[in-house]
Amino acid sequence: MLRDVVRALVEAKIAPYAAAVDEEARFPQEALDALVANDLHAVHVPEEYGGAGADALATVIVIEEVARACVSSSLIPAVNKLGSLPVILSGGEDLKKKYLTPLAKGDGMFSYCLSEPDAGSDAGGMKTKAVRDGDHYVLNGVKRWITNAGVSDYYTVMAVTDPEKRTKGISAFVVEKADEGVSFGAPEKKLGIKGSPTREVYLDNVRIPADRMIGAEGTGFATAMKTLDHTRITIAAQALGVAQGALDYAKGYVQERKQFGKPIADFQGIQFMLADMAMKIAAARALTYQAAAASERGDADLTFQGAAAKCFASDVAMEVTTDAVQLLGGYGYTRDYPVERMMRDAKITQIYEGTNQVQRIVMARNLP
Ligand SMILES: Cc1cc2nc3c(=O)[nH]c(=O)nc-3n(C[C@H](O)[C@H](O)[C@H](O)COP(=O)(O)OP(=O)(O)OC[C@H]3O[C@@H](n4cnc5c(N)ncnc54)[C@H](O)[C@@H]3O)c2cc1C
Repeated sequence: MLRDVVRALVEAKIAPYAAAVDEEARFPQEALDALVANDLHAVHVPEEYGGAGADALATVIVIEEVARACVSSSLIPAVNKLGSLPVILSGGEDLKKKYLTPLAKGDGMFSYCLSEPDAGSDAGGMKTKAVRDGDHYVLNGVKRWITNAGVSDYYTVMAVTDPEKRTKGISAFVVEKADEGVSFGAPEKKLGIKGSPTREVYLDNVRIPADRMIGAEGTGFATAMKTLDHTRITIAAQALGVAQGALDYAKGYVQERKQFGKPIADFQGIQFMLADMAMKIAAARALTYQAAAASERGDADLTFQGAAAKCFASDVAMEVTTDAVQLLGGYGYTRDYPVERMMRDAKITQIYEGTNQVQRIVMARNLP
């Protein structure tokens, strides 16, 4: 039922703008408005804070269905979960009330600030600092590649509070866009997900009350990693959605397109490609939903499951979208058809929330 409701909404209110959002590299405001109006912008927020209280699998289905038409728009529910999950997992009650309530209402989005110019795969090598000053912390540094930066009102920022202790000296904070000293870089010019703003976040002597720390001092990196265990599954959901969207489009096209006097769908070479695409998507979906169930239950092997789902589904998304372009021939290579956008959008799912090389490192360290 949830899938049907989201699909109908996406087809009416989000899909019609997907090409323009990509072409103009602009934020999908129509998608945000439609998602907020239907309470689908941050479905994971628990009911006690005014949220929809969706479990991990329901959240995956929402993201998957949005990504089926527009990956940029699917970053809205996905990154709202990524940004706010540190608060949900490790924040105190006051912090939860203060920030989850406006998020659930649609009054402010959340971003997640871990990466830096010189700290990507090795996020523990971050340089952003938070120095205690009485009842406050003062933050200085640069966060890079921050999704929805400038649009979000709230930012979970990981910063070094004790440089001696490396990852155990990193703490997490909620920083507000309105805090003095917060500013943003120019939007990155990207290959895909052009509708999702990616910008640097500059923290220049940002003085925030100490009670904005999420959890205890020194636990920020552990919270950041625990968050990714759960949210990599939402990237798998994006991958699954874009792969399904590409397959659905290609399936229709091959029935219509005639060569050698018949629809190209009649050729076994085409049928085998479609069969492989559907088979890979089915396997990715099974792994992703299994990982979502593990996330909901907090299974001991969640770290492996989340990495496996993200890695597998994103590799499938790249293969399937590339094959969809192939099935459309020369037409697939043009912007008159959606599959080249889907192929460009799919690529990011192999890179963010840890590259697929990093996922393989995580899996190897956490073999079931
Ligand atoms: C569009 C976009 C949105 C993003 N959104 C966010 C966000 O909202 N918040 C946030 O914090 N970050 C975000 N990121 C950052 C993203 O998570 C990083 O780009 C990613 O983790 C890789 O880091 P890097 O770009 O520094 O690459 P590097 O770490 O420099 O990696 C370069 C290459 O080396 C490989 N590599 C590195 N180390 C190893 C190793 N040990 N073994 C094998 N291979 C290795 C990598 O896999 C990659 O192929 C975003 C990035 C992009 C592009």
